[in-house]
Amino acid sequence: MVKHKIATIGSHSALQILKGAKDEGFETICVCLKGKEKPYKMFPVADKIIMMNSYDEFFEVEKQLIKENAVIIPHASFIAYIGPDKVEKLQVPYFGNKKILNWESNRTMERQWLLKAGLKMPHIFNTPDEIDRPVIVKFHGAGGGAGYFLAKHKRDFAKKIKLHPGEEDYVIQEYILGVPCYIHYFYSPITKELGVMSFDKRYESNVDSLGRVSARDQIALPKIDPSYVIVGNLPLVVRESLLPKIIEMGENTVKESQNIAPPGLFGPFCLECVITPDQEIYCFEISARIVAGTNPFTNGSPYTWLKYDVPMSTGRRIASEIKLAIKEDKTDLIFY
Ligand code: ATP
Repeated sequence: MVKHKIATIGSHSALQILKGAKDEGFETICVCLKGKEKPYKMFPVADKIIMMNSYDEFFEVEKQLIKENAVIIPHASFIAYIGPDKVEKLQVPYFGNKKILNWESNRTMERQWLLKAGLKMPHIFNTPDEIDRPVIVKFHGAGGGAGYFLAKHKRDFAKKIKLHPGEEDYVIQEYILGVPCYIHYFYSPITKELGVMSFDKRYESNVDSLGRVSARDQIALPKIDPSYVIVGNLPLVVRESLLPKIIEMGENTVKESQNIAPPGLFGPFCLECVITPDQEIYCFEISARIVAGTNPFTNGSPYTWLKYDVPMSTGRRIASEIKLAIKEDKTDLIFY
């Protein structure tokens, strides 16, 4: 039998992925950009570290990964650095359905998928003229929400958009007043089971520090615009009565993915949501792979502890799915 190794790029959730793989008995490989290797040397999660001078070298490295029978576990930084088009062309076994990439990276298609799955989403205003409530304006490709702005109404929008001359690729989304909540799921195409793995909220600079500056001082200070640059993730447990709805949302998202991009979404995914005081759950985005919000749970979460006999991180869950697929000779269901 082929002895597979588990590989990923050193960034994002690599520590968790590689540790989980080792816990399941796999040998691990970290592909790392020169200068970024320190964490992967400090924490003993990689059996081998392959260094690259730039991400352009990844296709050379790929040949070595194929020789080593490695399986690539994608994360957001992997897709961002390699590029979705190139990811589709990879020859090395890849854990995930590549057809989903299109649906996720195109805002219109993503919205179509999630609305068809019955998820509630923030309203989108096609033109500034339609704005009739507070909005959040998101620029495409804004690194981690830098430059996003809130506008109270049409006039406010007109004033603020002037600060972004030449910028045309943005979306005007209804601003949902509530708390952010990122839901981490895992769907097994082998057992056909959906699991809720954990939840997080993000710790974003500077929006999470604005509450520490009184309104009086905010007015007195030169100009504070909220930004959403992610710095870390905080673990979260939701009130239990929200779980039935949350589970249904995950189930419907998977079901609809099987219609739009057969065989559908599998492995880890995240619904990025805001929950209002009326307990309405608005989803504003999906990540169709492991999210960094699972990193607080390298040793398992309160939810995985209810289900598994061992500390089960999302990274480890990926490895256990690969192990099961190998054992049952069903790797064709999970490698693309
Ligand atoms: P990505 O998840 O692709 O990294 P990003 O970090 O660029 O995305 P988003 O996740 O879209 O940006 O949003 C950044 C922040 O704005 C998050 O804190 C999120 O909770 C908040 N947010 C996004 N959309 C809305 C909305 N419609 N209403 C209220 N808050 C929102």
